[in-house]
Amino acid sequence: MGEALIGETVVERLLRYVKYDTQSAEGSKTYPSTEKQKELGKLLVKELKELGLKDASMDKYGYITATLNGNIKQKVPVIGLFGHMDTSPEISGKDVKPQIHKNYSGGDLVLPGDKTQVIRPSESAELAKKIGHDIVTSDGTTLLGADNKAGIAEIMDAVRYLVKHPEIEHGTVKIAFTPDEEVGTGVKYFDVKKFGAQYAYTMDGETLGEAENETFCADSVKITFHGVLFHPGYAKGKLVNSIKIASDFIGRLPKDRLSPETTEKKEGYVHPNRIEGGVEDTTVKFIIRDFELEGLKKEEQFLKDLAEQTVSSYPRCSFRFEVEESYRNMRFVLEKYPEIVEKAMEATKISGLEPRLHSIRGGTDGARLTYMGLPTPNVATGGHNYHSKLEWISVQDMKKAVEVILNLVKVWAQTSK
Ligand SMILES: [Zn+2]
Repeated sequence: MGEALIGETVVERLLRYVKYDTQSAEGSKTYPSTEKQKELGKLLVKELKELGLKDASMDKYGYITATLNGNIKQKVPVIGLFGHMDTSPEISGKDVKPQIHKNYSGGDLVLPGDKTQVIRPSESAELAKKIGHDIVTSDGTTLLGADNKAGIAEIMDAVRYLVKHPEIEHGTVKIAFTPDEEVGTGVKYFDVKKFGAQYAYTMDGETLGEAENETFCADSVKITFHGVLFHPGYAKGKLVNSIKIASDFIGRLPKDRLSPETTEKKEGYVHPNRIEGGVEDTTVKFIIRDFELEGLKKEEQFLKDLAEQTVSSYPRCSFRFEVEESYRNMRFVLEKYPEIVEKAMEATKISGLEPRLHSIRGGTDGARLTYMGLPTPNVATGGHNYHSKLEWISVQDMKKAVEVILNLVKVWAQTSK
């Protein structure tokens, strides 16, 4: 194995990985959605091999997998560690010029490539706590890509450390780096059985100390309003315009609640995100989100009732109501295996952090993996302001996140004896 790799720091890795443009693309016909993600994949396979993980490889989908064999006799569950290689399709990740603001002394961080991009402790409360840290940002013209290259760098650094310190007892650890997380299809073709882990963690959270064991429950709803089409010149008393019915229906949605723009924390919402149609038929599409299944069903019933009320004020029209399941809160499965989250909390505590459970107002690859048979909560990387040019991460926090991974592996080995 290369001495350079074995001796380098986690931030050096991050700086190397963010130079690869791995932006994924919405609506792509290929998998992964952009071929360039595989360039980082090739590098990661090479580095994993240099660290001695001989089976490291990339498959046709761009999934990188590797095995760090256990070094103890007793049976310990095989643990998987996941990171995603792609960056958000919303903001360019090309020509990232990472900056290190050494020994942060408080105050605003003005990004040198675009002085209008300013990270303010008043808006980024976590930054105010990082006095004395070295803060990594982009130059303000792109995102940084700490989401999720910080997670990848941290996993790689933990592997490096375990290889260098064979005296640390651990079970078998499986590594997976995946594409296309940001477009929601990161584990679409992932072979959970072949991977062979019993439990896993995505290293894709933000504030240190947080473990995420909850995601939304999500459905999509399609409501099609049927009107009556007639030649407009001879339509008196006959034509019923479905565009007007759909508009009326949307106008009846609550203005001060139940929408993404009026809710936070554990509140759910109904969100119209597409409308299309003509005089005869108009379709309104919704995404529905709630942490509880009962809440989700209630919101759907609310929409159905509202559609009924709307339609009842027009003659000779009707509507069709269709629901499609998207994903479910991973907590429903994780509750059956409490030790997975408990061990993450314990590892966090041993690392000197205050462990906190957090819920995600969205879905994760981990939620999908959980329902594919691999229970996978999410663990913090230390990154902040994801999907923006104001993304930042502290070097000291990255080191802490590596410590959490190492403690996690140790805790699994120790408590399985
Ligand atoms: Zn991410």
